[in-house]
Amino acid sequence: MQPQIILLKEGTEASQGRSQIISNINACQAIVDCVRTTLGPRGMDKLMVEAQGKATISNDGATIMKLLDVVHPAAKTLVDIAKSQDAEVGDGTTSVVLLAGEFLKQMKPFIEEGVHSQIIIRSVRKATQMAIQYINEIAVKPKKNDEKELRELLEKCAATAMSSKLINQQKDFFSKMVVDAVMLLDDLLPLNMIGIKKVPGGALEDTLLVAGVAFKKTFSYAGFEMQPKQYSQPKIALLNIELELKAERDNAEVRLESVEEYQKVVDAEWTILYDKLEKLHLSGAKVVLSKLPIGDVATQYFADRDMFCAGRVPDEDLKRTMKACGGSILTTVADLDDSVLGTCQNFDEKQIGGDRFNIFTGCPQAKTCTIIIRGGAEQFMEETERSLHDAIMIVRRATKNDAVVAGGGAIEMELSKYLRDVSRTIAGKEQMLISAIARALEVIPRQLCDNAGFDSTNILNKLRQKHAQGNLWIGVDILNEDVADNMEKCVWEPSLVKINALSAASEATCLILSVDETIKNPKSGEGPAPPGRPGGRGRPF
Ligand code: ADP
Ligand code: MG
Repeated sequence: MQPQIILLKEGTEASQGRSQIISNINACQAIVDCVRTTLGPRGMDKLMVEAQGKATISNDGATIMKLLDVVHPAAKTLVDIAKSQDAEVGDGTTSVVLLAGEFLKQMKPFIEEGVHSQIIIRSVRKATQMAIQYINEIAVKPKKNDEKELRELLEKCAATAMSSKLINQQKDFFSKMVVDAVMLLDDLLPLNMIGIKKVPGGALEDTLLVAGVAFKKTFSYAGFEMQPKQYSQPKIALLNIELELKAERDNAEVRLESVEEYQKVVDAEWTILYDKLEKLHLSGAKVVLSKLPIGDVATQYFADRDMFCAGRVPDEDLKRTMKACGGSILTTVADLDDSVLGTCQNFDEKQIGGDRFNIFTGCPQAKTCTIIIRGGAEQFMEETERSLHDAIMIVRRATKNDAVVAGGGAIEMELSKYLRDVSRTIAGKEQMLISAIARALEVIPRQLCDNAGFDSTNILNKLRQKHAQGNLWIGVDILNEDVADNMEKCVWEPSLVKINALSAASEATCLILSVDETIKNPKSGEGPAPPGRPGGRGRPF
């Protein structure tokens, strides 16, 4: 009799082989079904409620995937590609998940029939590579050095990114604003130089773009009303200093013999404070901002000398002010001179909705801007912020890499046709595999139709016919339940979005197909999955 070999700890579960791949694919399918309906201009939104009851309404694939809190180890890959798409290009997060899911779905029959994973993986890689090459070939580039044309292109890309969001009614308004915002930045286009603030109330169209830094007025003490609220070309001191008489700390102990001695301690504190205030005044600074509190004495002092102050300014706002207006954030007032003070053209305190805002415009140093979003419900403004983020990312990407393709399924259909044509020239299993990938690409137009309530079979047939006739940019026409030339209809997307989505989806597909064993040791991790729970943590469905 063979001796029994015990290799793994007791309680370790291992599932392996073909059935493991299939079960992973099924798990991914379940994830894809969660985001499927959000794709496109007629996509639905998801309302997600977290443990603490915080509700989020979103149409953004990455946001939904993040909040889903997936536990299945293979399905997590899809969450990761959505996140990476979000970080890399900002848009196309739903598409990437859908594509990966469809690739897997199309590969499933091959796995079931016993084709080896490695052969499938090779074909998937090859098909992706060819597709990307083809995108680069057919992508349309605007003429160089034509400012107006570039701007138009950027606006259209931004509008397409926003057309699937809650704010699609206002997309013209916002696409102009987003392009303006990105144009205000310097060459590196740093994302953190665009501040986004939300003020409840007003209509979406009241959203405004400030060419400079703006932040909400901070808590202020008596005397603040007397300070001037407007300067032109003020010097700005940015501090990390408390300008307040401090109450004794709990654990401080001072032993005193007489009242006079106590008076001395108090006097010393006042002297220290007044010394700081005087230095600030003498430096010529007109606006004093501090990360730490500015107390009532200081507020009054500044008011008497026609200076403005704001304490407890949030860190990111102070940093943005520093980057925009120059100067440094000081921890001492010992050497105040012009080199450490910032400046700007105009400083204003303005009422926006129910809040007052401190606004710095005409900043000499870095170029920066702030978008102040107005709107009703909190969730609505948050979704607006996410949508603007998508659009801003797209515009940033498109300014650097300005090739565009037509959206609405047009590019996917063209790639599908291309791959199908190529596959006919290849012999062997690869032919089947590549044409399966070609079929998988059709998922985008099909889903766009399904989400809009169109007859997807009908429209897909028309699309296939048009593309076979050599019409590159025919895609789904969402407005008229038909097909149309989406390049003419200005549904434009940067080719980078599509390239990134394709390569991420194919990577994820290859990764999942290459895993044929899951070994789980309950003692090393978080403990066994609750029995009877389908699909959780590597269990087969
Ligand atoms: P993602 O998170 O992938 O960006 P979206 O919900 O934003 O998902 O949907 C994007 C899809 O909608 C793209 O395939 C895009 O081409 C398509 N799309 C956007 N605007 C239009 C439009 N006006 N007509 C047809 N399709 C559109
Ligand atoms: Mg989008």
